[in-house]
Parts: sequence; structure tokens; C-alpha cells
Amino acid sequence: MKKTFLSILAALICMTMVFSMTAFAAEAAPVSTVEEGVLNIATNAEFPPYEFKEGDGFAGIDIEIAGAIAEALGLELKVNDVEFGSIIGGVQSGKYDIGIAGMTKTEERLQSVNFSETYAIGVQVIIVKEDSDIQTADDLVGRKIGVQQDTTGDIYCCGDFGDENVTEYRNGAEAVQGLIAGKVDCVVIDNEPAKSYVAATEGLKILDTEYVTEEYAICIAKESEDLLAAINGVIKDLQESGKLQEIVDKYISAGEEAEEEESK
Ligand code: GLN
Repeated sequence: MKKTFLSILAALICMTMVFSMTAFAAEAAPVSTVEEGVLNIATNAEFPPYEFKEGDGFAGIDIEIAGAIAEALGLELKVNDVEFGSIIGGVQSGKYDIGIAGMTKTEERLQSVNFSETYAIGVQVIIVKEDSDIQTADDLVGRKIGVQQDTTGDIYCCGDFGDENVTEYRNGAEAVQGLIAGKVDCVVIDNEPAKSYVAATEGLKILDTEYVTEEYAICIAKESEDLLAAINGVIKDLQESGKLQEIVDKYISAGEEAEEEESK
């Protein structure tokens, strides 16, 4: 009887060990990436405070989130700075593991790539010269609008106001230059880069009216399901631990957010 009890106990211990080893193996299983041991991200480092060039490298909210993901997955981070419009194609064709670029999750983009859980909210806003008569999005009818090519601002403006009224610039900074030079009457762009551009330029303001509200997420190739699951896990951890908020606070001051809330 005692012998039977002992062998049952031994069998139970063995089973527990096998189970926990499987669980451990599942958790630590390395995700497959384009380059072994490396997380290749595609971004467009012209979009402060999400991504911008700093010295010889890159900084910003997305760059830090990508760094935290790479660290959690035991990978080395490699930043590829490319045109915004080539990010999805590059991810889809397996050139990069992920695209992280203040990228809005849209139904159309979901036809080509998968998106992670949302990690931030973006708002399309309108930048005008301080003395402009444009007050709301309705006033954009028939006006010359500057946008950053291939962005949602570009897509919405072409749809709402006609391609012939939209001038596409390579990045937000160039669109703002176009506004200063009087080539366009306004620039439609995401709110955080808009704030950076307006703060750095005399005579411009952001209208106190929101054009479109959107969700930022990371794009991943459709077939990389293991990577998608791993990234969603890391995003959840970063949210729950408060680390994501810490990263955001480093680049967007809490005071500014409170000011925004007050003015609503
Ligand atoms: N959120 C916008 C988009 O996804 C702009 C992103 C960007 O310019 N980096 O199209």
C-alpha cells in the first residue's frame, strides 16, 4: 500500500515537472524574426515626439516602446528609418519585423497587415497661420491643404476636400514650411507632431477643433502570429506596470495634457 502511494506520488511529481517545463518552454520560446536575435523595426523618424533623430541615433515614444519590446523578447533593437509610405509594404514583404510610427490602425491597412493592441490615441488637427480665417474643418472646403504623404490626414483630406486641393509633402516639417511660405492655407497632421512644429515656429497655431480621432498601433506581417501575440503581451505588461505612461510622460509633459483637458 505504502509502495503504491509512493509510486503515485513519484508519478505526480514527474507530471508536475513535465507540465511546468512545458509551461516554461512556451513562455520562453523565442519568436522568429527576420534576422536572428534582432527586432528590425521600420519607422519614419520625422514625427516628434513619437520618433525623431537625436545625435547619431533615434529617440521618442515609439523608439522606447520598441526598445522595451525588444528587451522583453531578448532581442537586439535595430531601427530602420524609411519613408512613412513604405513601412507597411516592408513589413508585409518580410523586410522588417514591425512598423511602429504613430501609425493609425485603419480597416484599409488591416487588409495588408495585422495591428497590435492600441497603445496611444492620436488626433488629426489643423495648423494655420495665426491670422488665418480658417476656424473649423468645414472652412477647409476649397482651401489649399498641406499633408504628409500617405498618412491618414492625406487620405481623409483627399476624400473630404478633393485631391486637387491637397498638397502632399514628404514629412510634416516640409508641410509646415509650405504653410509658412504661403503655398498652402493649412496643414492637417497628428496632434503631437503638430504641437512640436508649432512650438518651434513663429506665427502658427493649432485650431481648437479636432478633425479625426484615431488609434495608434504596431503593424506586423499577417503570418507572424507568434510575434503579434508576444508584442500584445508586452504592451499589456507595459500598460499594467505603468511603464508605458512613464515613457509617454518623458516626452509629453503632464502639464500640457492637463492644459488640454482644461481647454476642452
Ligand atoms: N497617424 C498617421 C497615420 O498613421 C500619421 C503617422 C505618421 O506620419 N508617422 O497615417
